[in-house]
Amino acid sequence: MRIARFVMGEDVGYGIVEGDGSADGPLEIAVIRSHPFAEVELTGARIPIDRVRLLAPVLPSKVLAFARTYADHAAELGNEVAKEPLMFLKPSTSVIGPGDPIRLPALSSEVHYEAELAIVIGALCKDVAVERAHEVILGYTCANDVTARDLQRSDGQWSRAKGFDTFCPLGPWIETDLDPREVRITCELDGALVQDGHTSELVFSVGELVAFASSAMTLLPGDVILTGTPAGVGPMVDGSVVRVGIEGIGQLTNPVRGL
Ligand code: MG
Repeated sequence: MRIARFVMGEDVGYGIVEGDGSADGPLEIAVIRSHPFAEVELTGARIPIDRVRLLAPVLPSKVLAFARTYADHAAELGNEVAKEPLMFLKPSTSVIGPGDPIRLPALSSEVHYEAELAIVIGALCKDVAVERAHEVILGYTCANDVTARDLQRSDGQWSRAKGFDTFCPLGPWIETDLDPREVRITCELDGALVQDGHTSELVFSVGELVAFASSAMTLLPGDVILTGTPAGVGPMVDGSVVRVGIEGIGQLTNPVRGL
């Protein structure tokens, strides 16, 4: 099931995305009565997807993210792969949706894309055991862990580098039926393939990451956990278009804008 959040006119809602996008199966949204964190009840309304604007699929209270979880990416920045998970926070105010512009801040001259698989939490939880993590995961979406690489180096800690407004594109929807162990992750910059990784190369499992995160803090429905990026990170400039693609989920496309 693909769960999207959308706006049409003045109405904001959640819906199930149906169809395969072909002529026989155009993408439509079956509208959900309230929200997707309880039993899903449909209103019966169906809307062609091209009549709505998709939003970030959740409004997280926090976005947690993991660093150096792919050996090839750790190596390209001169780091060792993490021996135990290395976690940081991105503020809720960094979240944007599909098609929304990533704004380049004046404080940085080196803003990078990082294509990542994102876990969407579905239930309030704390101290989740690895083998029970699936019980608190609603599904998965595409993320771009946008990073001001120069500030990441100069600040020593990463709140500014990872936390600017618009630095956490999420979408296009939440896929609830994904096996996160076996999917290809790509990033295209202006149509050129710049990252091409696979979650089988992740050094921690999704369950281990949820367990680690929830051992530190309570997770709320809609919270998001970014699982780290494979090799190939690089800069974006004003006018770039960046597209994160995850097999089994879809594509998240965002334009990049200067000031
Ligand atoms: Mg990252």
